[in-house]
Amino acid sequence: MDRAKTKRDFPTRIRKKQYLKSLFYFFVFGLVFNSFLWANTIWIERNQTFIQVPINWTPTKPQEKVFYFDQWKLIIYCKSFSRGEIFYIEILPKDDTPNVVLKDYTHQVYYKTMERDIPLNQKSFGYNGIYVFPPELKESKNKFIWIIQNPNKEKIQKEIELNIYLREFPYSDTPLIFEKKILPPEKQKELDERIEKEREMKKIAFSENLPNLFSNRLSHPRDFHYITSEWYKTRIHQYYQIINKKKIFSQPYKSIHRGLDLKGNTGDIVYALADGKIVLSAEMYYEGNFILINHGNKIFSGYMHLNERYYSENTYVKAGIPIGTVGATGLAIGSHLHFSVWIDGFVADPLSIYSLPIR
Ligand SMILES: [Zn+2]
Repeated sequence: MDRAKTKRDFPTRIRKKQYLKSLFYFFVFGLVFNSFLWANTIWIERNQTFIQVPINWTPTKPQEKVFYFDQWKLIIYCKSFSRGEIFYIEILPKDDTPNVVLKDYTHQVYYKTMERDIPLNQKSFGYNGIYVFPPELKESKNKFIWIIQNPNKEKIQKEIELNIYLREFPYSDTPLIFEKKILPPEKQKELDERIEKEREMKKIAFSENLPNLFSNRLSHPRDFHYITSEWYKTRIHQYYQIINKKKIFSQPYKSIHRGLDLKGNTGDIVYALADGKIVLSAEMYYEGNFILINHGNKIFSGYMHLNERYYSENTYVKAGIPIGTVGATGLAIGSHLHFSVWIDGFVADPLSIYSLPIR
């Protein structure tokens, strides 16, 4: 009898063990799976660049063009070599075993078509720089001059020609209609003064020159990728005023959308694009709660209509940290994030930066 009992008990113990085992796996996998659902962003690695992206979006791989000159090679990376896109340059010794001492040479890249110098940063591997093919480009043939100065202060130069695709930008002829309230003269004067004061604040914030602050880390500004209004889209604006209970419409006018609108509910997190210094954090008439980050070399990123701002001016931030939340402050129709990038005074396609192997 005892033996029979033992025999009967044996499978029960096994079943109990298996039950505990499956309970254990249920919790472990449950935790892993749930954390995957909760985490809406993920850090991905591209060459030596780490990018925080929403799990529903992946940046496209860049195209690259390589030029050789003397003992050097210059590589230009760009999402698709189209106007509006940000590009990344690296200058490296031509051979794997360089016989050149980096610091003994200076490089200059002059963007002849735009008549601007591209700021270059000295790195352990060579030189790098970030710039933009402005959306205003009219010529598809773009010229650059690459100037190298050797240890004897002798200069040599090479002309580089690049074909840039003059892509068409989106256009919408459905007018965006908004009411322009008629204010009593003293209120109007107050508002005009406020707008003027804020224009001055922006001018000062944009004028500060900082050295390169980019690291090898970048971040999408949201944890969910959904575009509600495309970058550089031409839109029709029209306003009306109510005079004697009647809507009087203005003449419709065209306006270019100089940022990218991303969907978000009030309170959703907004992340910093890259390392930098907050040079403006204020509530403004048009932009609402506005954060402007200076990334050095005249590269800026802006986050508008925020509900909350987590940092004040003069704070240094890292790529991917939460800097505030989505909102509908300022002149905004509904909650969303308006995200802008400026390079040397030109507006740039913000999403094109995530294709670049910045290090
Ligand atoms: Zn916008």
